[in-house]
Amino acid sequence: MRVLLVGGGGREHALALGLAGDPSVERLIAAPGNPGIAGVAELRQVVTTDPAAVAALAVEVGADLVVIGPEAPLVAGVADAVRAKGIAAFGPSAEAARLEGSKTFAKEVMTAAGVPTARSYTCTDPVGTAAALDEFGPPYVVKNDGLAAGKGVVVTDDRQAALAHAADCGRVVVEEYLAGPEVSLFVVTDGEAALPLLPAQDFKRIGDGDTGPNTGGMGAYAPLPWASVDLVDQVMADTVHPTLAEMRRRGNPFVGLLYVGLAITAQGPRVIEFNARFGDPETQVVLALLESPLGGLLHAAATGSLADHPPLRWRDGSAVTVVVAAEGYPGTPRTGDAITGADAPGIIHSGTARRDPDGPLLSTGGRVLCATATGTDLAAAREAAYALVDGVGLAGSQHRTDIALAAAQGRITLPG
Ligand code: AMP
Repeated sequence: MRVLLVGGGGREHALALGLAGDPSVERLIAAPGNPGIAGVAELRQVVTTDPAAVAALAVEVGADLVVIGPEAPLVAGVADAVRAKGIAAFGPSAEAARLEGSKTFAKEVMTAAGVPTARSYTCTDPVGTAAALDEFGPPYVVKNDGLAAGKGVVVTDDRQAALAHAADCGRVVVEEYLAGPEVSLFVVTDGEAALPLLPAQDFKRIGDGDTGPNTGGMGAYAPLPWASVDLVDQVMADTVHPTLAEMRRRGNPFVGLLYVGLAITAQGPRVIEFNARFGDPETQVVLALLESPLGGLLHAAATGSLADHPPLRWRDGSAVTVVVAAEGYPGTPRTGDAITGADAPGIIHSGTARRDPDGPLLSTGGRVLCATATGTDLAAAREAAYALVDGVGLAGSQHRTDIALAAAQGRITLPG
């Protein structure tokens, strides 16, 4: 089959590697892709948030399947436009992508579906925000209601900072703080049937020991040695299937990747957020362990035949990815620096470009590369991932040194 992959970050590089490794994928085109993806796919230019342009490209290249990586094209209606051309799309409709695009909508669906989540209020003015903050008490959680590329959430003990973030955003969701280790569970679904991938954990804060501001994610690992054996079954039963049923009931079935962000609290798993696409950088570790062909899996979801898909097969061992970020990230990252050592297998490109085909590889964003490795256990995978980081040259770059460390050392404990 011919596959068009939309996007050009680390998640899409990981998806491209998975798709290119599937023998049923005879041609892979990525738009716009990036220099890492160029190693396994043909690159085309497109404005990824322009539904008509993406659909036209899908027709032009004769795509049998379009895989939409980032959230912005989904919210813009790219999957709808591709389906309108009679081409299978992996990714939800614009209506269904509101599970990510609007925190208020996601809370409405969760409430209607009886999904366990944090209590919350949607607030639009300082008085309402202050009342909500005071009801829940610190730590305060304030979320931008719209898409914010994973950076719209402030968790703080500082009431003034919480109020200031709310004022910056306009419309926010204020919610109770959920205490407990976090889990990212990716679920591939055709709207009705659903297959969970391995649970993973990512690291949101910029600094070691979970200090400093939130980022898009500084690293990840899978699977989770500390999670209970029935965690995934429980989340599928209490959260995923009720949510999918509620979306069908509303006439907007969710097709694609439902990302369930959870906190494992003393009262059990609670949803922190839904996303409508693969998470970055958890995708890098989850797909590194997936043995089943990725193209066949995503095609089955996109064509409503997931119920007939064989059970997923996984490689033994663990995977770890460590993000190499530019100086200044997550504030204003320094860009345009030359990068060396990015050709090693396992280096995933997130924010890289070349000005001309033979020119040097340059940094273009906050998260530049993800050093991704597998190993017999987390300790071995960590060692291999950090060896990859050591081989990368990028002036002023930063990375966390403690990705997967607590889990590898058996130091993650569940509350309660
Ligand atoms: P989100 O963009 O919703 O994933 O939030 C980013 C990060 O903020 C999450 O990964 C959590 O670490 C944190 N967070 C969000 N909501 C809550 C909450 N209700 N309780 C505790 N932490 C939260």
